[in-house]
Amino acid sequence: MRKLQIIMTGVAIAAFISTPAFASDHGHNNKHDQHKSHWGYSGEAGPGHWGSLKKEYSACSAGTQQSPINIQTQRALASKVGEIKFSYQPTPVAVVNNGHTIQVNYAPGNTMTVSGKTYDLLQFHFHSPSEHMINDKHSNMEVHLVHKGADGKLAVVGVMMNTGSMLNALAPVWNRLPHELNKVTLNPGTINAADLLPNNTQNYYHYMGSLTTPPCTESVSWYVMKDAVEVAAKQSAKFSNLIEENARPVQGKNRRFILANE
Ligand SMILES: [Zn+2]
Repeated sequence: MRKLQIIMTGVAIAAFISTPAFASDHGHNNKHDQHKSHWGYSGEAGPGHWGSLKKEYSACSAGTQQSPINIQTQRALASKVGEIKFSYQPTPVAVVNNGHTIQVNYAPGNTMTVSGKTYDLLQFHFHSPSEHMINDKHSNMEVHLVHKGADGKLAVVGVMMNTGSMLNALAPVWNRLPHELNKVTLNPGTINAADLLPNNTQNYYHYMGSLTTPPCTESVSWYVMKDAVEVAAKQSAKFSNLIEENARPVQGKNRRFILANE
């Protein structure tokens, strides 16, 4: 029985690190496609041009519910969206450098539940500086925890990361940040996404937005935590040495409601 469990665990890990959908950022899941599209964060391939790089990216310029946004907390509507229940377990550290970010793929069976709907955690990844702004200010970094519902809709939790003390939970990822592109590598140890959340997860901002990378697909439910976590300056520097600035500029709010859960 024990031996069988070990074999099963090995198979499960092999399956999840080789699943193409997991080897991607934000559903941008085709390596070949990525090479053709050449989107980036500066120059001709920068965010202002994403919408015209490919027909499939048209939402990046034509969309009206795009992310990230500048959250003006005074203008957010106090509201009872409800408690978010996180059910995260430690996962093997399957890391990929997709050229746009460092992403950690999550094993199946980890969820968040909000407003009666449960979403599976697929992966988390980082932006430097933060993509969302809160009251006109960027944070040093932002982590995005990307979840998918049974209906295929995405829910992303954004957590601001301000410079401060070491975020020890990052060590299993940060100790071996991959240089090679699009190859999922398994680092020693485990990581728990719960350790990337602030202590208080009940105060957050909720709005309807999009992927912040091509194809900029809309109908993404965003939950941006009010409280930040801390990351050491040398930790964020290590990320920035490997990944170019990867924050899409904030997008127009276009009469969307920003709810503040209290
Ligand atoms: Zn992101």
